[in-house]
Amino acid sequence: MSEILVLVEQVEGEVKKVTLELLTLARSLGTPAAVWAGPGITAEAKSRLAEYGAEKIYVADSGDIVDYVVAPKAELLAQLVADKSPVAVLVAATAESKEIAGRLAVKTDSGVITDAVGLGEGFVADQSIFGGGVNVRSKVSKGTPIVAVRPNSTAPVAASGAGAEEQVSVTLSDAAKAARIVERVKQEKGARPELTEAAIVVSGGRGVGSAENFSVIEGLADALGAAVGASRAATDAGWYPHQFQVGQTGKTVSPQLYIAAGISGAIQHRAGMQTAKTIVAINKDPEAPIFELADYGVVGDLHQVVPQLTEEVNKRK
Ligand code: FAD
Repeated sequence: MSEILVLVEQVEGEVKKVTLELLTLARSLGTPAAVWAGPGITAEAKSRLAEYGAEKIYVADSGDIVDYVVAPKAELLAQLVADKSPVAVLVAATAESKEIAGRLAVKTDSGVITDAVGLGEGFVADQSIFGGGVNVRSKVSKGTPIVAVRPNSTAPVAASGAGAEEQVSVTLSDAAKAARIVERVKQEKGARPELTEAAIVVSGGRGVGSAENFSVIEGLADALGAAVGASRAATDAGWYPHQFQVGQTGKTVSPQLYIAAGISGAIQHRAGMQTAKTIVAINKDPEAPIFELADYGVVGDLHQVVPQLTEEVNKRK
């Protein structure tokens, strides 16, 4: 059986959209088998995984897995690779899962591809590398292909799978228990979608001019149901929190639509957003480098253009 393991991303028992995307991808290449690492799987989560094509759901219902950062998940996957001989392992290209993928590659003596934005026959991946500076097509030539795929690379499509549950137990090494989580600090979850997973991102840069003016960016984001992002110039100035910075030293996003307002398009910013499907730039300087990258450009003052756009979007709702 050409089983493909998909590591489930979940928050408080709720399966994240990127997992549904990975299951959709896996289905086009083999037989998807979801891997639930840790306690707390719900009937709802199981049916969601099956609804998007999981034929199997491997459940490692052990508190240890989530108590010790990333190492236990890598050990769990390594054990499943040894026991089930999958044809590939897919994880989301999130900070946590990329680390898991790297550790898994070492443990299984396999090749790993990160930041894939597409995956086709033979597990050939379209990959954005060197901070987004170069796009290549890559294939793992040793061991079990391990691929970390960026959120929003595939549209999730439902197709029912059997969702047969199999409990798995994992014996963790001492090394996996070397660093333990002693406290979890809950982040305020706003009404907006999570930046790295959002289908639409509206970002503001130095051109926004002040922290107060970011309400203009938020207004458009809320009209579109989008996440808000910011350039480093804006976060360094204290206009928007650092956790929303997009770019080489911030978050990598790959949405369907990225709107950059008052952002010049420096290479370090591009590194975090250039795999967006459609890029719209709003900038008063017609020579701004962001226009080289943009699919659509508006030359104008964002303080006029963005509110008009917001009004227009709201009118059409
Ligand atoms: P600017 O480059 O100053 O551009 C502002 C733009 O706004 C201009 O194009 C201007 O024409 C336009 N503008 C001004 N007023 C208006 C208006 N009213 N209406 C419309 N347009 C207007 N940057 C990141 O973003 N993310 C990173 O992760 C990141 N990492 C970095 C890592 C390193 C090691 C280094 C050295 C730099 C990094 N940078 C990063 C910084 C990066 O080089 C740029 O300095 C930064 O992206 C610039 O932000 P900006 O485009 O908002 O500002």
